[in-house]
Amino acid sequence: MPEFQNLLWLVIDAVLYFGALAALLRARSRIGLGAFFCALGVMHFLETYLAGILYVALPLDIVTSPGSTVLFTGKLMLLLVLYIREDAVVVRQPIYGLLLGNVLLFALAYVMRQHIPVALSADRAADFGFLNQTGGLMVWGTAILFFDCIIIILLYERSRAWFGDHVFPRLLVSGALVLSFDQVAFFIGLNMLTGAGLPVLIGGWVAKMGAVALYGVMAAVYLIYFERPAGRRTAPRIWDVFDTLTYRERYEDLLARTGCDALTGALDRHSLESYGRRAVENAASAGRPLAMLLIDIDHFKAFNDRFGHAAGDTMLKRITAEIMTNVSVSDFTYRFGGEEFVVIADGIAGDEANALGESIRRAIAAMPGDDPAKRVTASIGVASCASDASGYDRLFEIADKRLYEAKALGRNRVVGARPPIGDNPMRLVK
Ligand code: GH3
Ligand code: MG
Ligand code: MG
Repeated sequence: MPEFQNLLWLVIDAVLYFGALAALLRARSRIGLGAFFCALGVMHFLETYLAGILYVALPLDIVTSPGSTVLFTGKLMLLLVLYIREDAVVVRQPIYGLLLGNVLLFALAYVMRQHIPVALSADRAADFGFLNQTGGLMVWGTAILFFDCIIIILLYERSRAWFGDHVFPRLLVSGALVLSFDQVAFFIGLNMLTGAGLPVLIGGWVAKMGAVALYGVMAAVYLIYFERPAGRRTAPRIWDVFDTLTYRERYEDLLARTGCDALTGALDRHSLESYGRRAVENAASAGRPLAMLLIDIDHFKAFNDRFGHAAGDTMLKRITAEIMTNVSVSDFTYRFGGEEFVVIADGIAGDEANALGESIRRAIAAMPGDDPAKRVTASIGVASCASDASGYDRLFEIADKRLYEAKALGRNRVVGARPPIGDNPMRLVK
């Protein structure tokens, strides 16, 4: 039965491929990770080549290429194993390397086609058939691979919620989901380029699922028996993993260097120290009023505990937008700490500053949302230059003290300067 023979050969391919690359991975502390990366890259090319030239028949009328069943599936699972034992910073290197390597290959192949070839002998003419045939598919496949790599890692992290620290079901589920997505996405390109029909889609999918099961077993065995047990890492946040995989943290670095806070877009604490301080000094020396408002969200830890950090982050962005729409264009909004903001309003002081605080407080409390349980409030301390103080540090100290007073008085309120004796205690504006 040639179909069963082929099946056996595919299993042997997979064991050989995984065994050799896992051995290189295991030896990384002695020979460096470069050996593993290079071998993976060479196999990546073999995979594309095989997908263009070699198809075999398996039981159940399945026709598949060892390129996609063995090498492609294996590569994804190996990258996942690399991520599990190292981290997102390491695994993004081959992910981007493979993508850029393929783009380069495609570009170079195009340039080489412009060469004027000579025949080595009568039966060895230059042959661009393979490149012509698989070029488009290669670009399509590599683009999908890039997303596959990122998705499989995020799914693996997500599956912690379903299976805890059990590696095997997590490998299996993340592998099966990604390769199902991959099969459909790749098929769309294949269908458009070659007109391949539905049996190819289904046959390829069954073969990939079989490969995921085999690689899942091998990867679990490798992780459990052949790697030093790593100290239990605390579970990373999925968005942090995503940011690292997509080099977003570099973008955040860049934003930080521009003085903006990456999450909310407000100016950051560093900017407050320079621009904010300068604004106070300028106003004080010009004799112009200026107000400093310290805003702290009430019970925000409880909000995070209840709805999760991601919802907390979204809320912080919305709060920032709300603050910014309530202040005038010449006012500056800084994110001072996690859920603490500072507004420096040039040109106003005293009652006007309290009123600004009050309008911010009200706007935050009234922020529309589909879920009333997700409403938040803020406490605000207001200090004015020069009636309270004319130096930046002292002004900050006073606003901070008033913020604490607002918290102590029950939160969701604004505390500003004391009114002249005899007035109603209007300073607690609620
Ligand atoms: P209160 O100010 O009313 O006394 O209570 P609180 O719960 O807000 O107390 P505190 O100011 O001590 O805690 C701030 C919380 O804000 C802690 C943390 O859970 C949350 N937080 C800080 N930074 C971030 C962030 O960047 N994202 C999210 N989601 N939460 C943050
Ligand atoms: Mg706080
Ligand atoms: Mg707070």
